[in-house]
Amino acid sequence: MNEIILLKLGEVVLKGLNRRSFEDKLTSNVRRRLTHYGSFRVYSKQSTIYVEPQEEDCDLDGAYAACRQVFGIVAATRARSCPKDKDAIFHCARNYLGAQLQAARTFKVETKRADKKFPMNSMEISQYVGGLLHDEYPHLKVDVHAPELCVHVEVREKAAYVHGPSESGAGGLPIGMGGTAVSLLSGGIDSPAASYMIAKRGVKLELVHFYSPPYTSPQALDKVLRLARELTPWCGRMTLHIIPFTEIQEAIRAGCPEDHFTLIMRRFMMRLAQAVAARTGAKALVTGESLGQVASQTMDALAVSDAVCSLPVLRPVIGMDKTEIIAIARRIGTFDTSILPYEDCCTVFTPRHPKTHPHLDEVAAYEKALDIEGLTARALEGAERRTVSMGD
Ligand code: ATP
Ligand code: MG
Repeated sequence: MNEIILLKLGEVVLKGLNRRSFEDKLTSNVRRRLTHYGSFRVYSKQSTIYVEPQEEDCDLDGAYAACRQVFGIVAATRARSCPKDKDAIFHCARNYLGAQLQAARTFKVETKRADKKFPMNSMEISQYVGGLLHDEYPHLKVDVHAPELCVHVEVREKAAYVHGPSESGAGGLPIGMGGTAVSLLSGGIDSPAASYMIAKRGVKLELVHFYSPPYTSPQALDKVLRLARELTPWCGRMTLHIIPFTEIQEAIRAGCPEDHFTLIMRRFMMRLAQAVAARTGAKALVTGESLGQVASQTMDALAVSDAVCSLPVLRPVIGMDKTEIIAIARRIGTFDTSILPYEDCCTVFTPRHPKTHPHLDEVAAYEKALDIEGLTARALEGAERRTVSMGD
């Protein structure tokens, strides 16, 4: 089998002296992501990652789709390799791209020659191969500016490669280059989208979910596990920390004014997420909050929950409308699960008139009625960890 996958690196190439470590990280991320699709040789050279199947029964379609979801890859294409010989390149293009050449009305050949020892320059190769293809498919017209089909020829060190147009990759930066953050994952639409956006910037995520049995059902928890799993093609293997929240919610309900219930609950979430961050070496928290979307997401309310945080809180969807967040959720494949109708702990005990402009002093005074340390310590003790990975 001489069909391979070529992956183009994105912003990674701009990183100057760090470039080597970015490339290494990206190559190992690609390698890890391909373990379910067979045995591949993966290596990087000249700003390209080569993915070469090592066995006949490798799942190249699956591998190609998986590679396009790896952050740090801007473009991907399948290519056929052939000997570095002008006629071999022509035959390869004719056989490999025959159907596309037949279907197109206009075309051009574009050559990149990395091997400067090859006896023809790029222009000469394009003209030679283009001329023969034109003889073979006389209906084709050459259009050098906006061809329907661009036949790419790359003459590299070991071999020549022929491919059609490349497709977009996931963009972003390789996961692991940007450190670790704790992402608060509810069963909603927003937090999976927010998690995806931060992971895209090269951040490894630890996921935290709060649940309140018996007020929240086992199905609600399954839904969150499923969302976490749906994020793995983008975010890689992750740990979901499942933290019991019932005792905290009952204590708040019993001891604090109803209109402050959600605010105080959110401060507990932040404290617990921060404790997970301390244990996992994470340097920031991530939430799916969007300004003004609900009472607890006004600027005043955000300030009250930020007041318990010493780590930065990243809110990548803060300035987005719901429709924009939904578009992301649909694109990344979490939307259909997010709209399954199971309750979240935020939706049990919802105040009738939540406070939209809280004062920090007042909130802190109400919290005095609670054993904050004991409640958080017990919640953390009851936490369960689940690993989610692509093969699950
Ligand atoms: P989402 O659609 O993500 O559920 P939302 O618009 O419903 O968000 P809230 O329910 O107020 O908003 O939650 C705001 C953010 O708080 C969520 O995006 C998420 O990051 C976090 N969060 C809410 N509930 C939970 C939970 N049960 N476990 C973990 N994080 C949560
Ligand atoms: Mg929600």
